[in-house]
Amino acid sequence: MAFSLRLAAALVSASLAAPVLAHDRDDDCKEGRSLRLVNGRIHTMDAKDRVVSSVLIRNGRFASVGHGGGGDDDCTKTINLHGRTAVPGIIDNHNHIILLGLRPGRDTRLEFANSIPEALATLKARASQVPAGEWVTSIGGFHRNQFIPDPQPIRFPTLDEMTAAVPNHPVFIMESFSGPGATNAAGKAILEANGVVVGADGSVAANAPSLQALFYLRSTQTREQMLRSLQDAMAYAAGVGVTTHLDQGGFPSVGNNTDGAANFDRYRAYDSLRALYAEGKLTNRIWVNFLHMEADANTPELRARLLNVFNDFGDDMVRVLGIGEFTGGGLFPIGEAWMNGTRLVAQAQWRNENHSLGFNVGGVPDWKIIIDGWQAVQNEELAAGRAGIANLRWTLAHVPFIDDEYLQRLKGLGGQISVVGAWRWLTGTATGNGPPFRTILASGIRAGMSSDGMQISVMSPWVNLYYVVTGKNARGLLINAGQTLDRKQALRLYTADNGWFLNAEDKMGTIEEGKFGDLVVLSADYFSDRAVPDEKIKDLRSVLTVVNGKVVYDDLDGRNRDYWKAGLP
Ligand SMILES: [Zn+2]
Repeated sequence: MAFSLRLAAALVSASLAAPVLAHDRDDDCKEGRSLRLVNGRIHTMDAKDRVVSSVLIRNGRFASVGHGGGGDDDCTKTINLHGRTAVPGIIDNHNHIILLGLRPGRDTRLEFANSIPEALATLKARASQVPAGEWVTSIGGFHRNQFIPDPQPIRFPTLDEMTAAVPNHPVFIMESFSGPGATNAAGKAILEANGVVVGADGSVAANAPSLQALFYLRSTQTREQMLRSLQDAMAYAAGVGVTTHLDQGGFPSVGNNTDGAANFDRYRAYDSLRALYAEGKLTNRIWVNFLHMEADANTPELRARLLNVFNDFGDDMVRVLGIGEFTGGGLFPIGEAWMNGTRLVAQAQWRNENHSLGFNVGGVPDWKIIIDGWQAVQNEELAAGRAGIANLRWTLAHVPFIDDEYLQRLKGLGGQISVVGAWRWLTGTATGNGPPFRTILASGIRAGMSSDGMQISVMSPWVNLYYVVTGKNARGLLINAGQTLDRKQALRLYTADNGWFLNAEDKMGTIEEGKFGDLVVLSADYFSDRAVPDEKIKDLRSVLTVVNGKVVYDDLDGRNRDYWKAGLP
């Protein structure tokens, strides 16, 4: 049953993952430990679109691509892929893995649940891994739209359903930034004792009630639990084939019951990342942008950041890349704080990223405001004899709507587009649709793909790609007709094109000699619509994920599938 395969990727990987040691050396092997993969259909996604049967990874990089040969020795491990399809490690150029790693409770991604029974089975399977009494949670990254096809009304699982599926753990699930949510009987008792209003059916209303529940859960969290949560988040990513994230930060928290799922403590938010890095326990590459949201028109916080942090600094596992997805001001590109922040980033010669949600601000679409604002800053900078932004790869993200005129303007500024898929899959409508993938590619501008998980969207690249390829939302409605891409074009946005996107086109995105040894072996052949009909694209997962030449997820023998069959109702 496909569902159990998907669960396996999500949940078991934590216990199977081997740590990646960023500076791994083994004195017994003069040339280091090597990994050879043979007998695969390995799509390199290189400029010639080569498909090879074998690769050798040595010292974390592809040392040989498609030359076969060579046997096992004490320093080389060989894995036979038995004809399976492999692709470069997926690069998610805009997501919020750091926020996911800060979630309270035992996080349970619901992104593969396509019905109420599947959501319940996922929660039940997660509970079976967790000591009785501990919270099982799912905060952000799913929506009721997934559970019920159009046109029946959407709903959460009820209290009775969740209590039957998970009787011995409190459960809390919550959509997006601030709910609504739902709980089971054990959860209701605890939440009500801590000031949360819960309906008789287990419902927790959006905003104040959901945020009170989140505040309570966060108040019980320890540093050790946060470390484990980030490891779980990376294990989940490895299970779906994401090997590199460009994290886009969080909103400043105030530490009370007004904070939503996307708020974090800016002083402490990266503690787990730094600790796991220092211990050599990162199983994904996590590169970061710093999000700046501040009302003060002089943007003192952004100024301090630019003055005191090294730009484009770090190593291949953890790297500071730029400012984003906000540059002073608030949620929208408006006002002096945003313009001043933009000027400062240009003058400091940093990379910059802003999101466009396609909303009108003062009657003007946000994408026009951003691109016009960037052009104004560019004009000022060049007039002042400074370098300007043309070589900085400034990025407009999500971009549900844009036209060719503005694509050409952004292209003229050396800018690029990060397109998102599963946000619209989750909550998109016939009018709230896009991005116009074909229009963007036809413009010739640099573009790459992201999930924008973990609040308003799902992380799985396969759910994101499903939307790009089919144009259908989670309720089964075709909403992006005329703007879909074929499978290879779509995957290229998530691999080769994202190498450029991360200022690392010489290091990642394709399987070529000298590039990072990051690769994903898929559960089925994505490139074959006979093996994987369109509707099944969103069920794909990894069965073997390699990061930096190390296996960080391994389900080639299908043991996860068997394990999870036993856990299903
Ligand atoms: Zn984002």
